[in-house]
Formats: sequence, structure tokens, C-alpha cells
Amino acid sequence: RGAVIVLRDVTEQEQEDRARRDFVANVSHEIRTPLTTIKSYIEALEDGAVDSPSHARKFLSVIHTETDRMVRMVSDLLQLSRLDSGRESWKFDPHNLRELVQNACFRFAMQLQRREVSLAFEVPSNLNVNVDADKLDQVFDNLISNAIKYTPDGGRIRVIAYRPSGKFILVQVVDNGIGIPKHDLPQIFNRFYRVDKARSRAAGGTGLGLSIARQIVEVHGGQIQIDSEEGKGTAVSFTLPVGTGGSGA
Ligand code: ADP
Repeated sequence: RGAVIVLRDVTEQEQEDRARRDFVANVSHEIRTPLTTIKSYIEALEDGAVDSPSHARKFLSVIHTETDRMVRMVSDLLQLSRLDSGRESWKFDPHNLRELVQNACFRFAMQLQRREVSLAFEVPSNLNVNVDADKLDQVFDNLISNAIKYTPDGGRIRVIAYRPSGKFILVQVVDNGIGIPKHDLPQIFNRFYRVDKARSRAAGGTGLGLSIARQIVEVHGGQIQIDSEEGKGTAVSFTLPVGTGGSGA
């Protein structure tokens, strides 16, 4: 009684404008954060830290790490922009999935040596896919590096692939790490969305890995999803069509 409810019609254009504004705000914030750190360490060096070799080394190493992260973020952003605009070029070729997975796992050998996390793969040798191998490598790199980042020492990561039906192949990257809270799951593929910003940053994350992985999987004609339980672990699963090459992009 007496209450007036005004329903405003939010048009698609308005939603798009808002998404764009949010995105620009996010990018600016994400880039300013490492820049502020870099600047403050340079100032500390100018203020005298440079005279202490041990301090200088430590500060330079922070500057190096933050610069690397910015380079990674800008590369990820450029790639997202190419994917969005359809300017990314694709090269679909037949590949053996087991070989692709094996190579991906080998790329993490050094990193795994420094951590007490095991990485195993279970992929039958007869699974052949028609994919852009460089792009699929990126999907594996993003998913495996997440599994490593968010799995404490003593953890176990598995990359599994099989063919549950005649039509598609299912690939899963499973870890028994920290998991993701239920209420974060619906947003986890959004750009810059992270459960724990500080943890992601400390681990060198950009918050863009999963959204890039999703775009690449979708161009291949597949789907990606994430199942997770806090404290138990995470499984990222994606499909690849059998014997076809991409969705025409
Ligand atoms: P980031 O660079 O922060 O890792 P991603 O887009 O790859 O960005 O992932 C988004 C967020 O999803 C991460 O910040 C993290 O909170 C969560 N996440 C992704 N993979 C895992 C995983 N295997 N275990 C736990 N959390 C994960």
C-alpha cells in the first residue's frame, strides 16, 4: 500500500555498457596494483636501500616478479581482446591427445620438483583430436598451473581423458587442493574473478586464466565446467568433439 515500484527496463545495450565500464575499471585496478608496488620499491632503492646489497637484491627481485606479472596480464588481455574480436588465428590439425597431455605435464616438471605435489596423467593412446595445439596447450597450462597453485604440498593432481560416448572426449584436471567455496562457483569463469585475490596474486595469477580457457574450449566446439568442494579439491572438465575441427572460427 502506497509503495511505488519502478521497474526499469535494462536494455542489452545498457548491460553491455556496464560490463565494459566494469572491465575497464578492473583492468585499471589490476595494472595499477603492481605498478604501485614497483614504484614504491624503486623509491626505497633511491632512498638508500641500494647501498645495502642484500636489500637491493631483495627489492629488485620484487620488482622483477611484479614486472613479470604485468607482462603476463597484458599478454592475457591482448589475447582476450583477439578472441573477443575474432582476430585470433586458428590452425586445426589432427593430434594425439595423449601426446599433448604428456607434453603439457612435462612442461611443469621443474615447477613440480620445487613443490611436493604429484602430477599424473591417464590418457588412452588411441584418442585423436582435431585441435589448434598451441591453444589447447594454453588450456592445459592454465588448468594445470591452477591445480598446482591451489594445491598444498603433499597434494595430488591428475589429468584424465576418456571417451564417454561416440561424440566427444572428456578431459579432466583434478586436484585435491583447497577447493572453491560453493557461492563463488557461478562466477569463477568471469574475467578477474578470484576467490582470494591475495593468494592469486602471491601465486602469480592474473584472474584471466579460466576465462581464456573457456573461450578456447568453446571455439573447439566443446564445453567447460568446474566442480569443487572447499577443502576437498577441484575438477575442471572440458569436452572436445571427436573427429571434427573447431566451430568454424
Ligand atoms: P588466477 O590467475 O587467479 O588463477 P583463474 O581465472 O585461472 O585466475 O582462476 C580464477 C580463480 O578460480 C582463482 O583465483 C582461484 O580462486 C580459483 N581457482 C581456479 N582453479 C582452482 C583450483 N584448481 N583450485 C582452487 N581454486 C581454483
